[in-house]
Amino acid sequence: MKIINKIAEMQQYSTLQRCEGKKIAVVPTMGFLHEGHLSLIDCARKEADIVIVTNFVNPTQFAPHEDLDTYPRNFEEDCKLCKERGTDIVFAPEADDMYCADRTTWVIEEKLSKHLCGLSRPVFFRGICTVVTKLFNITLPDIAVFGQKDAQQALIITRMVRDLNFPIEIIVAPLVREKDGLAMSSRNRYLNEGERHRGLVISRSLFRAEKMLVQNGIGRLGEVLSMIVDNISEAGGKIDYVEALDAATLEEPDENVKTLLLACAADFGKARLIDNVLVKIGE
Ligand code: AMP
Repeated sequence: MKIINKIAEMQQYSTLQRCEGKKIAVVPTMGFLHEGHLSLIDCARKEADIVIVTNFVNPTQFAPHEDLDTYPRNFEEDCKLCKERGTDIVFAPEADDMYCADRTTWVIEEKLSKHLCGLSRPVFFRGICTVVTKLFNITLPDIAVFGQKDAQQALIITRMVRDLNFPIEIIVAPLVREKDGLAMSSRNRYLNEGERHRGLVISRSLFRAEKMLVQNGIGRLGEVLSMIVDNISEAGGKIDYVEALDAATLEEPDENVKTLLLACAADFGKARLIDNVLVKIGE
């Protein structure tokens, strides 16, 4: 496994691999890797000849008051894990190389970004669409793997790739959880023992809601959402949103909805926890 830091070297490497007919998969990450990230690498490994993992804490997706400076990092351990899972290249650029000081160009998705995390984090998806575009132009992949953990991000990237004709296949891999149900996340590192325990209310409530919706359909969706809100609030979580949207469009669901995205975000201590389940309706 090789570590590449320079943009031009990464582009040269990928160009050469493509000339040799190799299929390239990229897994974009912000590092501090856990089994959720590693499952994406496994998926990429099955689909492609060359697996590139990008490791870059992207400053443009953080608002000034957010946790850019304290975001957990452990580059050496990340590289060890990437190597163990058969990664070919770790691409870890410097922020100053990625972003010219006088940059004036952004990539903006204008509809899906306005829901869920986009409401409380207005620059978040602009930063993500821009950095993912740049990482695509630098790593030149045939395939890119994202996680269902960030369901809205996966939808937005899929939309961006369609709308801008990137010749890249997007694969969305399942959400990986701890044994007790907590969605794996680099930010779980911020939780103390009590917060981690109380944070389990999120996945538990989502699973309970899923059961209720599968049994009863969306007729009493309001009640189901209130149950989630009450449970999380009682456990001391500071809720950003609890929503049930059409999983394909992020619009309010109507009676024809096929799959619901039940999604929630709440702070426990310093950690913003997000989680979701997909609920098939009427099956
Ligand atoms: P991050 O490093 O948090 O930006 O995440 C990088 C990629 O890993 C994104 O596509 C995430 O959706 C994915 N990811 C993060 N946590 C999980 C998880 N628990 N299960 C599956 N994918 C995940």
